[in-house]
Amino acid sequence: MSDYQLTAIGHIHSPYKQKFAIPRQPRLVPQAKAKLVFTADFNREEFVRGLDEFSHIWLLFRFHETADKGYSAMVRPPRLGGNERKGVFATRATFRPNAIGMSAVKLEGIEYKNGQLSLLLAGIDLLDGTPILDIKPYLPYSDAMIEATAGFADTRPETDMTVEFSQASLDFIAKQHSYPELQDFISNVLKQDPRPAYKKQYDGEQSYGMTLYDFNIRWQVNDSHNYVSSIEKN
Ligand code: SAM
Repeated sequence: MSDYQLTAIGHIHSPYKQKFAIPRQPRLVPQAKAKLVFTADFNREEFVRGLDEFSHIWLLFRFHETADKGYSAMVRPPRLGGNERKGVFATRATFRPNAIGMSAVKLEGIEYKNGQLSLLLAGIDLLDGTPILDIKPYLPYSDAMIEATAGFADTRPETDMTVEFSQASLDFIAKQHSYPELQDFISNVLKQDPRPAYKKQYDGEQSYGMTLYDFNIRWQVNDSHNYVSSIEKN
C-alpha cells in the first residue's frame, strides 16, 4: 500500500488572500497573524492539551491552491533569480509530489471561543484557507541545528527595498483601529520584494496590487523604492 488519504484537521484563516506577495518562508514577516481553526472532528481541547507550553509549532499542510498543477523534477528557485535549476527535493518549491508544505511558526495562544477551538499564530507564509494536515511542537534541542549549512539558501533573504506611504494611505491606516500593525505588516511584505524574478530585471516604474485582509493595496516600484499610493477596503 503506497497510496494514502489525508484529512484536514483544520484550516488557516490568513490575511494573505492570494499567493502573490506571501513571503517565501515563515517568520520573514512577524506581523502576519493567522488563526488555525479546527474542523469538527478535532474541535476538542484534549487534542491540544500541553501545546501552550511551546512557543513555536510545526504546521504540515497542503499547497491546496496549486496541488492539481503537478510538479517537475527540476525547478527554478526565485532565490537564484529564476535562471538556475535545482532538483525539486533540493528546494522548498510549492509544486512538488504530494503537495505537502511545512512551516515553523510562532504560537501566540490557544482560543476556545463560542465552542470553536483555534490556534493564534504569527509569522505565517500561508494562503487563506490552507488545509492543515498535522501540528507538532517545535523542539529547539533537536530542530534547531546551529551547525547546519544551506548552500544556495544559506542566508536570510535581505533586500535593500525601501517603503514610502502616500499621505492618503497613511490616513487610511490611521483609521484601522482593529489592525494596529497594519503599516509595519504592509511595509515588511513589500520589503520581501514579492515581484517575480523577471520583473525585477525591468528598470522602468511598475505598478502592482495585492489584497491583505480585505484591503486592496496599490504600490509602485522604482529601482528598490516602493511607493504605496492607495489602500482601499474591498
Ligand atoms: N514554508 C513552507 C515550506 O517550506 O514547505 C512553504 C514554502 S513555499 C516556498 C511558500 C509559498 O507558498 C508562499 O510564498 C505562497 O506563494 C505559497 N503558498 C502558501 N500557501 C499556499 C497554498 N495553500 N497553496 C499553494 N501555495 C501556497
